[in-house]
Amino acid sequence: MNISIDPYSGFCFGVERAIKLAENELAENDLLYCLGDIVHNQEEIDRLKQIGLLSIDYDRYNNSKNIKVLIRAHGEPPFTYKHAQENNINIIDATCPVVLKLQQRIRNAYKEMKESNGQVIIFGKKNHPEIVGLEGQTANTAIVIESSDDIDKLDYRKPLRLFVQTTKSTDDFKAIVQEIKKRINSANSDQGNFKYYNTICGQVSNRVSQLKKFCLNNDVVIFVSGYKSSNGKYLYGICKSVNPGSHHISSETELEKNWFKNAQSVGISGATSTPKWLMENVAREIAGLCIYKI
Ligand code: SF4
Repeated sequence: MNISIDPYSGFCFGVERAIKLAENELAENDLLYCLGDIVHNQEEIDRLKQIGLLSIDYDRYNNSKNIKVLIRAHGEPPFTYKHAQENNINIIDATCPVVLKLQQRIRNAYKEMKESNGQVIIFGKKNHPEIVGLEGQTANTAIVIESSDDIDKLDYRKPLRLFVQTTKSTDDFKAIVQEIKKRINSANSDQGNFKYYNTICGQVSNRVSQLKKFCLNNDVVIFVSGYKSSNGKYLYGICKSVNPGSHHISSETELEKNWFKNAQSVGISGATSTPKWLMENVAREIAGLCIYKI
């Protein structure tokens, strides 16, 4: 049986950069706090914890002073920086440059919409850390829409500026754009007042066609990612739609021997938050499970 690891899977450059910044700091100091989990992957969190990276939640952060805190790739709202300034908190900012650019664009759109009495809209998952950081750029006035059910909240007579969370699906974004255009027509409003920007990260959107090919080329696909990862859920959905013999696991301990019955080829892939070493562990475990005929 052939077992291969998807060469395009593993950490995106934003997550890799955040981990590198944490590791560099921990090479010189024993302890570094991270606001939220650095990556949606428990195994990697545990590995970094062993070298001194401790996740803290907002309650703890808001009651802290005089500490050093890493801001993860998802980014943060302005309040987090304000609190740091006022409480002698030393920030190591690992916000992904792609997210920083999106925050800047949303800030600009917010200023523009304030002047023209318009609305900033963000298509994404409510309460996701990236979305919290993006909403913060608009003093929390942006309207977050998760699905077409939410778009009743929009006022189609006003100027609208639509952005999208970096890890969303391009097809879902296109569907939202079409639905908004339809509503503008029904309201007899000016389509020229609606501007939309595809701000999905290239590291996510480019992976889809490649992942589909990888899934078609294997009898069984094992997709490895934390269950909390939005990117993981999205990419796993693609695996399952292309290859029904796909299984989502968070570590090699969840593998089931019967999944590999009659399989000639097994492909292992993962989300942008899945470390390569974890997929290698999965590959070794599968090889061990399949030594004996099932
Ligand atoms: S998925 Fe893209 S935007 Fe998000 S952290 Fe990775 S590189 Fe940055």
